[in-house]
Amino acid sequence: MHIDLHTHTTASDGQLSINALIHRAQTLGIELLSITDHDTTAAYNDLTALTAKRLTVIPGIEFSTRWRKIDIHILGLNIDPDSDAIKTCTGLQRKVRSDRAMQIATKLEKLGVTNPLPRVKQIAGNGNIGRPHFAQHLVETGFVKDINQAFDKYLSAGKPAYFRQHWTPVPQLIESIKAAGGTAVLAHPAKYKLTRTKLNELVDEFKEAGGEGIEVISGMQVPNLTRDLARLCETKKMLASCGSDFHQPGQSWAELGRYPPLPKSCRPVWDCW
Ligand code: AMP
Ligand code: MN
Ligand code: MN
Ligand code: MN
Repeated sequence: MHIDLHTHTTASDGQLSINALIHRAQTLGIELLSITDHDTTAAYNDLTALTAKRLTVIPGIEFSTRWRKIDIHILGLNIDPDSDAIKTCTGLQRKVRSDRAMQIATKLEKLGVTNPLPRVKQIAGNGNIGRPHFAQHLVETGFVKDINQAFDKYLSAGKPAYFRQHWTPVPQLIESIKAAGGTAVLAHPAKYKLTRTKLNELVDEFKEAGGEGIEVISGMQVPNLTRDLARLCETKKMLASCGSDFHQPGQSWAELGRYPPLPKSCRPVWDCW
């Protein structure tokens, strides 16, 4: 079965609308798909392309939060996007994002970028504002040569335009995902560049707070990493998820559903739905 449980649309920093994404998923033969925009479920309001019999859409979200001064992401899969629990969290996170956008804009102005916010808002359209929208503006204005450089020079943690925001805490997010009927999954654990010890501690605390899954596969990745995360998942007795983290066509490492299946030793997250 072709499965992708981590994708983005124009409701956050993705480039396709939900209907275009679903069309693409159908064309590529995906059978189980979750749209997991950053801190919003707004895309689901625009869902009209639903759907050929062979594609099941699992409502989801990707929450931004912090663990010990590190920015981490938690997927809420199989949630009720209209539940009060999710709406409360998306409301809080939207406020954090818009406050953060103002702080980033102020920092960039001090670095010589003239009044970035109006254009950044325009780039984000109706979607939740994120750093990729700032990155695009920095490319447009010639401050950097590409999106990567925008993060490297300005937007990543510790860089001059980074703002340390106060996201909703991990336990509250996990509790809300569960209250909405969903499964909380630690997104792309390898992206946080943690030591083995720290990663163990993160997973222990995540599980202690009610987290149930680990994203064992995040797009195209080296087989060693998959084996490593699968082992972690087994040791901690957690469910395994997989997704591309698709944002736009042309990201060769992140085409919808394009990665090997989960290792046989893993218990897939969809087993419990
Ligand atoms: P935000 O949600 O505003 O914190 O921005 C995080 C998003 O920025 C991630 O979900 C990625 O889509 C994107 N991103 C993070 N780091 C980079 C990078 N180095 N290059 C390109 N995109 C990045
Ligand atoms: Mn993103
Ligand atoms: Mn993420
Ligand atoms: Mn993502």
